[in-house]
Amino acid sequence: MKLLLHICCAPCAAAIVEKMRKKPEIDLSGYYYNPNIHPLEEHDKRKRSVEALSADFGFPVDFRDENGLEFWRNRLGENKELRCSTCYSIRLNEAAKHAMEKGFDAFTTSLLISPYQNHELIKARGEQLAEKFGLQFYYEDFRELYRRGREISRAKGYYMQKYCGCMYSYHESDHPKKPIYTFEKNL
Ligand code: SF4
Repeated sequence: MKLLLHICCAPCAAAIVEKMRKKPEIDLSGYYYNPNIHPLEEHDKRKRSVEALSADFGFPVDFRDENGLEFWRNRLGENKELRCSTCYSIRLNEAAKHAMEKGFDAFTTSLLISPYQNHELIKARGEQLAEKFGLQFYYEDFRELYRRGREISRAKGYYMQKYCGCMYSYHESDHPKKPIYTFEKNL
């Protein structure tokens, strides 16, 4: 099975990749597409770790750089439910489209490993998009691998982010090690 893994970040993808690379029936590729991540400096830190992950585990990753700051700022505001649901849809839609265009059989996402995301919504969205693009959505509840992903990331030195990704989540995060960034507009 040719499987495309949408990758949100290296810590979330690492244990999934480790597991999939042990399955001879799966031909794995990655797709890094996260226009939600702000600012660009943060986006690029995460991207560099995904490049390292690709090299360490020997699997190809396509990178698509896109910055949707205006979209997030003007269209979604602080309605968190709408914001996250839209965020999943945009990333999964583009991953599914990419999978279809490149001849993959199925797609999935590293978002399924996070205990902090709306798992059921991601699964439902993935299944809807699979139908739309004539693909299979590879579903597995990867949350049991979450801890393993952190272990691999610490061992390999992958960047471990301190907020989900968008500028709203940056301001909402109270992590003491959050990097100091300034945005164009205070929220
Ligand atoms: S909190 Fe996370 S999932 Fe929700 S919109 Fe922001 S980056 Fe996307």
